[in-house]
Amino acid sequence: MSKGSSPRPFSVDQTTFESNWDLAFGKNKKTNMETTKLILTDVDGVLLDWAGGFDAWMLNKGFRHVPGNEHAYLMNERFIDVEYDQGKQLIREFNESEAVGNLVPFRDAVAGIHELARAGYKFGVISSHSDVPRACAQREQNLRKHFTDVFKFFVHLPTGADKDDALEPYRGSNLWWIEDKTENAVAGAVRGLRTILMDHEHNNQDRPEGITRVHTWQDIVAIVLNPNKSI
Ligand SMILES: [Mg+2]
Repeated sequence: MSKGSSPRPFSVDQTTFESNWDLAFGKNKKTNMETTKLILTDVDGVLLDWAGGFDAWMLNKGFRHVPGNEHAYLMNERFIDVEYDQGKQLIREFNESEAVGNLVPFRDAVAGIHELARAGYKFGVISSHSDVPRACAQREQNLRKHFTDVFKFFVHLPTGADKDDALEPYRGSNLWWIEDKTENAVAGAVRGLRTILMDHEHNNQDRPEGITRVHTWQDIVAIVLNPNKSI
């Protein structure tokens, strides 16, 4: 590693996905997966308030919301005079900026994560924020700052990437999977993960089969600690 460079976080190749599985379940995967207290989770819109941070950054740059469309998922619908490709580029720029290292916790995430941690759970992060090393290091540092040492591993995917490949090693594991993007939630559900969708305006028209919708981490705590009452 060259002097002054950030430590390289997990890369995204299949070997890493498999090693995350080993990290989660140890050598006796089949025996351990039913009893392992591991929760797979997205970050933005679940653990951290990405939208709040991004909006502040955009407004500071001089962009303005489309009235009534402040919560649209696509940035070309959310902001005036932003083209689709420009919106994607702005998200990438934000996710690689220092501002992303200052995102604050989402809703009651800190209390919920700590309650689950007290019950023995650890967390495996799968996030498509960025795979740029400096951005990944900032993200890990920020997550540890807010949630302390509750993370078993971090998977950093390119900005906006699908999560199918990253979830594939956990197929049939019956692990919990927390997401706010409907497509990624479905990608977990079809692989046999017990999937929970965090409620947002951008997903509240979606009712994917077999997926529980929640509004808070307190809802997630209640479901995870009383699984027979839920899904
Ligand atoms: Mg998200």
